[in-house]
Amino acid sequence: MTGSSPVTPAQYLDALIADSEDANLRFYLPTVLHFFREDLLRVIGIGDASASGWQNLEWHVDGRCSACDWLGHEKWANSKDKAKIAAQPTHYCYPAAKLTGHLSQIAGMTRGARKTLQIHAIPNTTSAASAPAAHPAFQQHSHLKKERSRIPLRAQALISSTTSVDISAVLASLAPAPQLHVAVTVNFDPSAGLLTGLSVFGRATAYVTGQTPRQFPTKCFVVDQKCLADRSTK
Ligand code: SF4
Repeated sequence: MTGSSPVTPAQYLDALIADSEDANLRFYLPTVLHFFREDLLRVIGIGDASASGWQNLEWHVDGRCSACDWLGHEKWANSKDKAKIAAQPTHYCYPAAKLTGHLSQIAGMTRGARKTLQIHAIPNTTSAASAPAAHPAFQQHSHLKKERSRIPLRAQALISSTTSVDISAVLASLAPAPQLHVAVTVNFDPSAGLLTGLSVFGRATAYVTGQTPRQFPTKCFVVDQKCLADRSTK
């Protein structure tokens, strides 16, 4: 808005409406409703069930905890917070996981896999370290089935602080001299269920001495509108 005359409330409102975008509520609502109708009630119910009910809440430390105030990773804490964590280490998930041998410490462990182990009487890393690959729990979850021989070894490594080499592992890598090299980047917003952009670039070569590889510059396709129709026409 320009000019010296004061902006009226109606103009502010019109500008706000003009700037607003369709939030595609049908993508967000199921998660929001699930949070208010189920997650919140469950957490409050468990937390209020007894004086220290919050200690009975389920938790799982992974990459999503990095911004949580209750992670308690000392290396990231200032001196004041370090003192708080040291005074009550089991009140913070990172030190509590180490102290209790929480299964989420095992590399690659998912929430579902951890719950499956706990249901089958493998509650911590000590139990996981001694579980044979033939343990029935490892047949109950796809991740556990795939990693059944590595999970006990990873748990043992956590306990002993010694690592070992998996000599049966097979590593795959790209060919050392491809004639066509293409990189495609896809940006997807999982919370909204919307594609937000694509880009592609490439390089081709015949490996002829003195002949420079042909470069294909990066081509970007940005979808900056929250409208499903834009996803197919860009
Ligand atoms: S640090 Fe603990 S409380 Fe925070 S998100 Fe992770 S598991 Fe949950």
